[in-house]
Amino acid sequence: QCAGQRDENHLPYCSGYCCLASLKQAKYIREADPEAKAFIIYDHMRTMGIYENFYKTLQDDPGVFLTKGKVVEVSEGEDGKVKVIVDETLLGEKLEINVDLVVLAIGMVPVTAEEPVLNLEYRQGPGLPTDELELFYGYADSNYVCFPYETRRTGIYAAGAIHQPMTIAQAIEDARGAALKAIQCLVAIEEGHAVHPRTWDFAYPEFDLKMCTQCKRCTEECPFGALNEDEAGNPLPNITRCRRCGTCFGACPQRIINFKDYSIEMVGNMIKATEMPEQGYGLYRLMAFVCENDALPALDMAAYQKKNIPVSFRIIPVRCLGAVNVSFVKDAMSKGYDGILLLGCKYGENYQCHFIKGSELANRRMENVAETLQQLALEQERVTLHTVAIDEVEEAVKKLNEFNEEMKGFEENPFKGW
Ligand code: SF4
Ligand code: SF4
Repeated sequence: QCAGQRDENHLPYCSGYCCLASLKQAKYIREADPEAKAFIIYDHMRTMGIYENFYKTLQDDPGVFLTKGKVVEVSEGEDGKVKVIVDETLLGEKLEINVDLVVLAIGMVPVTAEEPVLNLEYRQGPGLPTDELELFYGYADSNYVCFPYETRRTGIYAAGAIHQPMTIAQAIEDARGAALKAIQCLVAIEEGHAVHPRTWDFAYPEFDLKMCTQCKRCTEECPFGALNEDEAGNPLPNITRCRRCGTCFGACPQRIINFKDYSIEMVGNMIKATEMPEQGYGLYRLMAFVCENDALPALDMAAYQKKNIPVSFRIIPVRCLGAVNVSFVKDAMSKGYDGILLLGCKYGENYQCHFIKGSELANRRMENVAETLQQLALEQERVTLHTVAIDEVEEAVKKLNEFNEEMKGFEENPFKGW
C-alpha cells in the first residue's frame, strides 16, 4: 500500500484512491472465501470522511491483517508461495509472510502525462500542456485554487482521473463541474466575450502585422496556445481560444499588439500623466505595476483597512505581470520615475498566477529590463519584482514600504525634468 506514491523518487503525490481499493479488494476476497486471509501492509492509510467506517469494518475482520510497515523483500517461498519480508514499523520487528498472491497498490498516472491524447491543431503541440510548470505531475490542470477543471486549452475541461487522482464516485461529481464550465464557455463564445477570469471582456488582441518581425515571441509565450503561425511566421490569432491575458502584448518588442481596452498608448498615457517634481526637490516618484488578479485586491483591502501606502507610489493596474511590456520600464524611467515595482501573483512552488506563467515570464524578462536600465545608465536595483497572494495584505503593503525605503538609498533619477 503506497507502492511508490508519496515518494519523491517515484510518484510524489498521494494517488487518493488506492487505500480504499486495497480495503475493498480484501473485503471481496473475504466474501468469496471466508477461509482466506488478506494482509495489507501500508505506509499510510487514508480513508476520508465516512469511508473511515469502512476501514473500521475491515479492522474488525479477523481475517484481514492490517499493519504499518515497509516491504523490504519479495521472493519465492516454500510450496509455491511468495515470501514477503516486512519491516513492521509499529513494533519495530521483521515479519515474514507467505502468501499466494502479492498485489501492489500502485498509484494513478494520467494518460496526459505520457502522450498527447488529443490531436489539436495548435502551434504549441497537439496535446494538453502539462509538464512545463512541473506542478501538476502530468495532470491536465492549470490552477487548482482559482480555476478548477480549466486546462490550458480554452474550451477543454478536465474531469476525473486526468484532472486529479480520484475515485469513480468523485469523478462523477467532477464531471458535473467540468460540464458546467463547458456550458459557460459556449455562452461566452456565443456572446463574444472572454471566458473566466475576464468574463466581461469583449476586446481581443489586435495585431498590426505590417511591423511584425516574425520574432515568434507572442506565439511561443501565449500560455493558452491561442496563436498559430502562418508559413512566414506571422501570428494567426484564434480569438475563441484567447483568454485576454495580455501576455502577447507584454512580449511583443514591436509594441504592435493592442486591445481596445488595454493598449500600449493607454498605459503610456498613464505613465506620462504623473506630475513629476523637478530635479532637486527630493521628492521621489515610484511606479508600481500591479496585477489586477491578486496583488491589486490585496492593496484594495489594505486601503479598506486604512493601512499606509507610501505617497511616492503611482499604481498602474495590469491584467497580469506578463502583460507588462518592457518598453513601459523605459518610458517610466525616461519620464523620471526613481524606481519601478512589479507586484504580481506567486509563481514556482506556490504558483497562483491566473494566467499560468505571467509572473514567471515577467521575472524572465527582468534580464531585458536590466539591459534597458544599462542603456539609460541607471542602476538595476531600481526595478524589482515581488509576488503576493490575494490575502497577503500586510505583505503587499510591506513590499511597497520596503521598496520605498530601498529607493531612498539612490540618487534621484537624473531624467527628472527632461
Ligand atoms: S491575450 Fe493571452 S491568450 Fe490571448 S493571444 Fe495574447 S497571450 Fe494568448
Ligand atoms: S511578438 Fe510582435 S513582432 Fe514578434 S511575432 Fe508576435 S506580433 Fe510579430
